[in-house]
Amino acid sequence: MKYVALVLLLFTGASLFSQPVSLILAPQATAAETRAAAILKSYLGKLTPQPITVTREPKSEPVPPAIFIGQSPASQAQGFIFPDKMAEDALFLHGKGGMVALGGEGEKGAEYAAYSLLELLGCRRFSPRDTLIPKLETIQLPVLPARVETPAFPYRELWYEPAMDDSWARWHKLKTHTQKNKEWGMFVHTFDKLCPQNQYFKEHPEYFSFNGAQYSPGQLCLSNDTVFQIVVASLRAAIAQNPEAKYWSVSQNDNYDYCKCLRCAASDRKYGSTAGSLLLFVNRVAREFPNKVISTLAYQYTRKAPNGLKPEPNVNICLCSIECNRGNPIEEGCADFANDVREWSALTSNLMIWDYVVQFRSYFGPFPNWKTLQPNLRFFQKNQVQMMFEQGSGRDRSEFSDMRAYLLAKLMWNPNASQDSILADFRKGYYGEYAGFVDRHIKDQIRRMEKHGKKLWIYDVPQNEPFVRDSFYYRMMNFDQGMSKPSDPKLERRMRPIVLVELFSFLENMKSVPTRGDDFLARNAYMMFRFDTSGLHNMFNSFEQWCSEVGMNHLNENRYTPAQYVKDFREFLARIRDAAESIALNVQLAEPASPQYASGKAEVLTDQLVGETDYRYNW
Ligand SMILES: [Zn+2]
Repeated sequence: MKYVALVLLLFTGASLFSQPVSLILAPQATAAETRAAAILKSYLGKLTPQPITVTREPKSEPVPPAIFIGQSPASQAQGFIFPDKMAEDALFLHGKGGMVALGGEGEKGAEYAAYSLLELLGCRRFSPRDTLIPKLETIQLPVLPARVETPAFPYRELWYEPAMDDSWARWHKLKTHTQKNKEWGMFVHTFDKLCPQNQYFKEHPEYFSFNGAQYSPGQLCLSNDTVFQIVVASLRAAIAQNPEAKYWSVSQNDNYDYCKCLRCAASDRKYGSTAGSLLLFVNRVAREFPNKVISTLAYQYTRKAPNGLKPEPNVNICLCSIECNRGNPIEEGCADFANDVREWSALTSNLMIWDYVVQFRSYFGPFPNWKTLQPNLRFFQKNQVQMMFEQGSGRDRSEFSDMRAYLLAKLMWNPNASQDSILADFRKGYYGEYAGFVDRHIKDQIRRMEKHGKKLWIYDVPQNEPFVRDSFYYRMMNFDQGMSKPSDPKLERRMRPIVLVELFSFLENMKSVPTRGDDFLARNAYMMFRFDTSGLHNMFNSFEQWCSEVGMNHLNENRYTPAQYVKDFREFLARIRDAAESIALNVQLAEPASPQYASGKAEVLTDQLVGETDYRYNW
């Protein structure tokens, strides 16, 4: 009978024999350690058929595979020495002899260590939609020299679609959207909330900007004492409503209309920057709220650091890189901003960078900024930046948003990680059989962008980007060949956004071909579509359908929808037909055209090209 039982056991599957994976939690485990154990139990349960056990005080000496979560007598008995004190969010990992010890500092460190271990075991969270959990027969815990990882930036926020998913953000060691909303009582461009123009401008225009001749409600007069009282009272009331929030933004509205009254102007002159009057005001507000962090913007006209005026210790400076060229790392391509970073950094240890990482005018436009992300983060780290806010396309998916968000999350934790390895790993896991195609596609974009002078702006239209137009029609013809139907529907969904970006660029370029079409194919394609628009209408249908399938819901930050885009394009085509006759006309300009516009020549009025609501199109 015993023999029969043994034979049965031998043939009923490996799991019956599998050694359990022991998770040994510290007896006084913190909340983060307890969460780490639950996360490991859940993922390991999917990774392997081995049973997973969780204990606090093991009755016998643990045997491999065993994971110690937090320091305990059992981990000490195995010779694991945990560090005494680490920075907030830092993690500890040590693996030897088929066992691993992990832990971390603060509310999340241990949880982050659990995610790092799961990645070492092959798990990935490429996007909120795409998780990879390999199937392993048995778990082999890695040998790891004892190591502490401390994040390069204590505060890491990614304003990008994947990071809106709290569990994806936690996996990638980022501030979650939920936490952010709890921590910030008010966030950027708050002058109008704190001293509303609707409420005050009519009776008291002097509370607002004076431009030398008249008042306007664009910004506040920061040297007006009543304005100070109003702002402090508003802030006090808001804090009473939300006393837990740590950060409160007292910052300029989103325009250039700053106050130039005698007193404001005198402060700005004295400190050599328009940030002078702003910082005097914000420092004064911050002294009223010593237990809160008062954040302000160094943005556009307040970007340059003041000379001889330091922010109060509880003032946070949020310095914004909105003007920078993205074709080059900031230190090379935007020397004046790099200088602002150095100057603010010399004044405060509480510096936040608001950086921009996508094409905001066209979420579907190609934006090959891949070679700038890492050097920029390294530069910010070198200048002791404490808080990073990377602005992507917010809640919307956009060009390569899954891959760029993934890379940024890894680099915000460690800007010295290998970008090539991170991207190669992502391409292999996410794009599968298309990994090589995607790699070549991006390298080609970068090469063309660099060939055309390394210029890349965050507000531009594809037909203004020479690198998009460069050999465009040739590329479109080859694109189909490189994109045979994927074998896996999941891959089709992941590749579709790349096709959408190309299709969008093609459609946009159609608007500009006759005068700018510098190759024969471009002209031919244009003529073809002009005389037979059925091909274009088919493209519109595909465009709308694919956008909806992959959840690319907006084309820019003004929430322009694919349906509206197609509707506007159809109307644009109708106007082209009306403009067809214009070429016969001879036009004289009564006044010379403004040099601000793309071309000041009279012929642009009769070149058969139709303008758009944006002057950069076919002016
Ligand atoms: Zn003023």
